[in-house]
This record gives sequence, C-alpha cells and structure tokens, in this order.
Amino acid sequence: MAEKRDYYEVLGVSRGASADEIKKAYRKLAKQYHPDLNPDNQEAEMKFKEAGEAYEVLSDPDKKQRYDQFGHAGVDPNFGAGGGGFGGFGGGFDFGDIFEGFFGGGFGGGRGARRNAPKPGSDLETSITISFEEAAFGCEKEIHIYRTEFCPDCEGSGAKAGSEVVTCSTCGGSGQVRSTQRTILGNMSTVTTCSACGGKGKIVKDPCDTCKGKGKIRKSRTIKVNIPAGIDHGQSISLSGQGNVGDLGAPVGNLFVTVAVEPHEIFVRNNYDVMSEVPITFVQAALGAELEVPTLDGKVKYSIPEGTQTGTVFRLKGKGIPMLRRNGRGDQYVKVTVEVPTHLSQKQKELLREFEGGLKSNNHTKQKSFFEKMRGGKG
Ligand SMILES: [Zn+2]
Ligand SMILES: [Zn+2]
Repeated sequence: MAEKRDYYEVLGVSRGASADEIKKAYRKLAKQYHPDLNPDNQEAEMKFKEAGEAYEVLSDPDKKQRYDQFGHAGVDPNFGAGGGGFGGFGGGFDFGDIFEGFFGGGFGGGRGARRNAPKPGSDLETSITISFEEAAFGCEKEIHIYRTEFCPDCEGSGAKAGSEVVTCSTCGGSGQVRSTQRTILGNMSTVTTCSACGGKGKIVKDPCDTCKGKGKIRKSRTIKVNIPAGIDHGQSISLSGQGNVGDLGAPVGNLFVTVAVEPHEIFVRNNYDVMSEVPITFVQAALGAELEVPTLDGKVKYSIPEGTQTGTVFRLKGKGIPMLRRNGRGDQYVKVTVEVPTHLSQKQKELLREFEGGLKSNNHTKQKSFFEKMRGGKG
C-alpha cells in the first residue's frame, strides 16, 4: 500500500488554511474528478476519493485537530492495520452542502457512488484527569462511556430470532437506485440510496424488539485504560476498536482518551525533567548544609557547599519523569533560594551588626565588583 499523502497537500492548501479555503479547494477538486464526469477513469476516481477523505477530516474541527496532532494515525481507524484504503470515507459526510448550487441542489450521486460499502463505526473521544505522579509512573484507570454496539439479541441483523430477512425488491439488494437527470452539464446518470431499504439492500420482516430493528443499541460501558508512564498533559491514548460499531462487517471505531495532568504542589514538569525549588536559610547558604530534597522517589539528601548563592541550580540525575514507552528518565533540577530572616530580636540584630562589622572586602565578591563597576562608569 502506497504511503498516504498529506491531506493539506491533497487539497493544495497550507496548514493554516481557513475552513472556507479548505471547502473551496475541495469543491474545485470534487468538480474536476467527479466520477460522473470522468466515467471509467480510475485515476480520477482515486483522486476524487482522496480529496473526499481529506475534506472529511479537515472540515471536521475534532478530526482536524487530531490529524494536526497525530497525522493519519489520529483519524484513520485502519491505520497500521495494513488494509483500509478509504474505509473511513463517507461516514455521515454531507455532500449536499458541497454540491448545492453546482448541480442545482438535486444531486444525490456522491453518496450512492460508494458502491454500498459497509460504513465503519465512528470514533469516540473522552478525557481523564490524573495526578502528577500517576502521569510520571503510569496507572490503570476506569472510564465511563456511552457507545453504539451491536444488539446482543439479533447480533446486529435487526431481525427477531427465527424471522426472515428478505432482499429488497425495489433495488434488488444493491441498496442503490440509478436514475438519469437532465442537468446543465447534459444528461447525467446518478445513483441514489434506495429509500425502501435505506441502502441496506435487505428488509427485515419482523424487527427485533430490543433494538427495534436497528441492529444496534446504545450502551454504557466501563473501560479499563492503562496509562503509560511518562505521559504528559494533553496527550491522547488510542484504544483501537473501542469506539462505536458501524455496519456489520465494517471496522469498529476507536476510542481516544485525552489525558489532563493535575499540577503538583512542589514539582513543575518540563518535558521529562522535573523542576523544583528549595528554600534555605542564609546561614545554611553561608556555611553549607545537608538538605532533604523531595523527589518523585521520596526525600533524598543533598549537600550544598559553603557559600552557596541564591538561585543556584543543582541537578539530581535520573530523578525526573520516566520516558514514555522508552527506557530512561529525565533529571530533577533543584533551585536553591535563600530566605532572608524576618522578625529578628534585638539581640539577633546586634549580632548581625557585629557580624557585618567584621566582614572583609572579599566576603562579598559580587558586591565588591558591582561597586567597582559603578565607580568606573562615573569616571
Ligand atoms: Zn436487535
Ligand atoms: Zn432497497
């Protein structure tokens, strides 16, 4: 199977194209390659389908966002399955809107031209909120969704047990009716969906009570989701085949779960690294100290040297977030901030004045060079 072309490239628009530009570009291609205007032209048919598929995705804000984020994998239920092709094309897609004004509004052939292919199930989307630690180390969660499933009593046929399903006499089982219309472009043969059977080609004599003959029911489901270690806020997990069912024999839709990660009280995430701050006293900063530093694995001891300045950042290697579906972990960066003491007693203040009186010029090297620069600037 050939590599799928980029949808924006197919329509000949830029990635930043507006909805209007996308629609215009599609209309132009659809007119150019429409099968009724290019009979027995396989290349035109392929281009028509390709443009339709691209438009179906780029005209739907949800699908467009998924496509922009994940490429074909985000929107194609057959992605990676090896087969597929244009399986997703036509599912609930409004041709009327596109062809209105072009064929005088009476155009119904686009839908029928799909040769009665079984419609695949649509995808579902939901979201889940997890903690910072759950995102870092992975977790198992349950989510609740409503989805369309095959009716268990008739297994999707829509017919009551033991009752007959007969071939539609109006369309002879093809699900389509062909008619010829006069249009501004000359006589045009159009194929429309058979109204007697709704395009199914079969008629249920005695409908199943559970699903009223639809063959499908809505069901509430609880689904276990394994959230991999290292996932980040806004990323999605795809559960293939957990979406809505489509027609019998067609692929089932997928379920996309977007993950929201709660902010942490101490840690801030930057890709796979963890950032945090530790306040220390100026005595600790001046004399050096052994600090207890919180990490994702619990507290660790870290010795800061004598004369540590405020804003100094030290690194704890391998204490960051485990990498998503890879070995290894990021690092933790700890920034030290020196807290100046407040509410000092008279005695403490006196001690500090005495302390400052005893300082030499090289005790504060930054201050020394700062004043030297100031003097240099003036003279
Ligand atoms: Zn049923
Ligand atoms: Zn029919």
